[in-house]
Amino acid sequence: MPELPDIELYLGALRPRVLQQPLARLRLASAFFLRSVAVAPAALEGHHVIGLRRMGKRIVLAFEGDLFAVLHLMIAGRLRWLKAGAPIPGRIGLAAFDFPNGSLIVTESGSRKRASLHIVHGVEALAALDPGGLEVLDTPFESFVDAIRRENHTIKRALTDPHLLSGIGNAYSDEILHTARLSPMALTHALTDEQLRALHDACVAVLSGWSDRLREETGDAFPETVTAFRKGMSVHGRHGQPCPRCGAPVQRIVYASNEANYCAPCQTGGRLLADRALSRLLRNDWPKTLDELERRKAEYPGGRSR
Ligand SMILES: [Zn+2]
Repeated sequence: MPELPDIELYLGALRPRVLQQPLARLRLASAFFLRSVAVAPAALEGHHVIGLRRMGKRIVLAFEGDLFAVLHLMIAGRLRWLKAGAPIPGRIGLAAFDFPNGSLIVTESGSRKRASLHIVHGVEALAALDPGGLEVLDTPFESFVDAIRRENHTIKRALTDPHLLSGIGNAYSDEILHTARLSPMALTHALTDEQLRALHDACVAVLSGWSDRLREETGDAFPETVTAFRKGMSVHGRHGQPCPRCGAPVQRIVYASNEANYCAPCQTGGRLLADRALSRLLRNDWPKTLDELERRKAEYPGGRSR
């Protein structure tokens, strides 16, 4: 799912292309994509884009007349910038925002269509779509701590809860926790002041560092490869590969529809977190250290840490 650095990358590419441009036409290829009913899509036509901003993991296009188009790309939604009036690609195409200088195309691969568009009138209707998480990069440390400790959750869950923090998902939370040297399963109420400080510093370093890096890599082009698996990430998507800090193999635990990637020596004092697949395999012989795990895997052919 595109997260804060990815959404900022899209916004940076959209600003010079669509700001102050009038929307000629909004074409919808999928009736399901538009989730709001209050404002007809045609109401946007002829209005200029006067603002572009991120709201959590959503992209907001602000139009004259107090109108807003709110795009949520979810997991597989992506944007393309094609020549004005370009056809919407079959199967994956959801919509096209036609401007005089080009068309912003929304696509979504895969069979599960989850990306959404809301068209609303007025800032109150816009605010109703905001999950309300704090903007970590604009938030003093004390407010960050209040949000993180509001409920007692694992840090992984707290970081990715859009009601607590804005724009952080599975990929960047893995990177933040590795930078902060914290276990994804540590409980937020158990964090020391020092750990909270490290977590906040890591959020800022990872989110702003990746935003800068992606902007540099993309330059003036429209971003073509927005992915949760970036070359140069430390642990996310790198299960089994060496940790760039200590060289130990990156571990992964899968739970519900989510997963966490982490380095045991760097983040959990070398302890392995419970993984359902492996614990089933090993029954009560749960390995407590990396060495033990490696030995067990050799003893159980085909037994992989998921
Ligand atoms: Zn490590």
